[in-house]
Amino acid sequence: MGTHTAEQPAPVADLSVPTRTGLLIIGASQSGVQLAVSLRALGFDEHITLLGDEDHRPYQRPALSKEFLQGTVESESLIFRSNEYWAEHNVDLVKGEYIVRIDRDADGSGIAHASSGRHFPFKRLALTVGARARKLEIDGGDLDGVLYLRNADDALALKARVGDAQDVVVIGGGFIGLEAASSLQKMGKNVTVLEFGPRLVGRAVGEETAEYFLQAHRARGLDIRLNTSAARLTATDGGRSVAGVELQDGTLLPAQIVLVGIGVIPNTQLAEQLGLTVDNGIVVDRYALASDGTTVAIGDCANMPNPVPGAEPGERIRLESVNNAIEHAKVAAYSLTGRREEYAGIPWFWSNQADLKLQIAGLCNGYDRTVLRSDEERGKFSVLYYRRGQVIAADCVNAPLDFMAVKNALAKGRNIPADAAADPATPLKTITTDS
Ligand code: NAP
Repeated sequence: MGTHTAEQPAPVADLSVPTRTGLLIIGASQSGVQLAVSLRALGFDEHITLLGDEDHRPYQRPALSKEFLQGTVESESLIFRSNEYWAEHNVDLVKGEYIVRIDRDADGSGIAHASSGRHFPFKRLALTVGARARKLEIDGGDLDGVLYLRNADDALALKARVGDAQDVVVIGGGFIGLEAASSLQKMGKNVTVLEFGPRLVGRAVGEETAEYFLQAHRARGLDIRLNTSAARLTATDGGRSVAGVELQDGTLLPAQIVLVGIGVIPNTQLAEQLGLTVDNGIVVDRYALASDGTTVAIGDCANMPNPVPGAEPGERIRLESVNNAIEHAKVAAYSLTGRREEYAGIPWFWSNQADLKLQIAGLCNGYDRTVLRSDEERGKFSVLYYRRGQVIAADCVNAPLDFMAVKNALAKGRNIPADAAADPATPLKTITTDS
């Protein structure tokens, strides 16, 4: 029975102020999904809303430039978790909503407003908003047939056009450019890659690996042009569709598709609107907490202290990789459950390009020496990076044992002495030392 009398009317609920409970995760890709999954594994029992702006259920992205583009996997197999999983774990999956503004109180709770007019109240907030493709800003950059490859809709658009295209120009010789170029070449297209810089994959690998990939791709028939940029794109079809790429030196390359992979820009708009510190990403501490001490930010959008053992004090990084999205999400899940756990493990990356399987362990920033292990006969190639005599990273092509040995050594704070590492016949794990 209620206790209210005629003199004390029951309070009327103010429906304009929704109850601010639970966790709102904005961004439903690799890091957002992992955060929800890790939280449930840790026993976090509050309601979770996992919200994304795409109309698809959360899916794995690495296959988009490879198996999905080539048609060797079905889209269903890329889905992370079934609808039943989310329902059983009390996670409200919201698709197709783009958050444009967040109102927040001093205690960190608030309401996120979507462009559709819907709003999403929360007690705690996680930003797993990722990064967006950098746009090609030259004449003709917005023509039909100028495509990007960041999400499933991009991949579907590329797949829809690729059948009618014979000539593809890929702008950008990074991971996306080279993976997609290899796939498109395999699909019978005439592919040219234009790289602005003096070498391929400039941000992620050292010079020897870049040169190895250049020679390997050229040997496989890919036309790669370094130090080359597009001046403008030419049009056909009444000025609507792309017809070619004019280079700075006046060369004209025919192209029915121009695929742009020139890097990404972290999505920091919401963080800026919330007044969080932003500097090449949302600045977080080692526990994935943003500058307000309550919002967590993880994955491609977050700028964090370098977690690699032996990193220079104060060194920060923003990593764009699946492995980082997963490990960073685990750190954030601990923070949201009141624990403080630092990043575990060593950053690692992979990229499959044709029959070249690149695996990278660690971060090579600041190296002062490299050791090359090349076994041409078996098509294996590794470069180990050293700083002050300590191994800090390795790029390994078709050499999974080298990769595992370096990754394990880094994780355990061990070393692989440089002088002994050069002989490709010596397994690295047999020469790993304690320091
Ligand atoms: P990326 O790795 O940053 O590579 C972009 C490349 O394009 C760089 O080499 C850059 O050269 C070059 N470039 C920039 N502007 C150019 C221009 N106007 N003309 C020609 N080249 C230009 O980025 P991405 O390949 O676009 O990939 C996007 C994101 O997805 C990255 O975070 C990437 O790590 C991630 N991804 C990862 C994988 C994987 O881990 N296997 C696979 C696909 C994508 P400069 O360095 O000289 O600027």
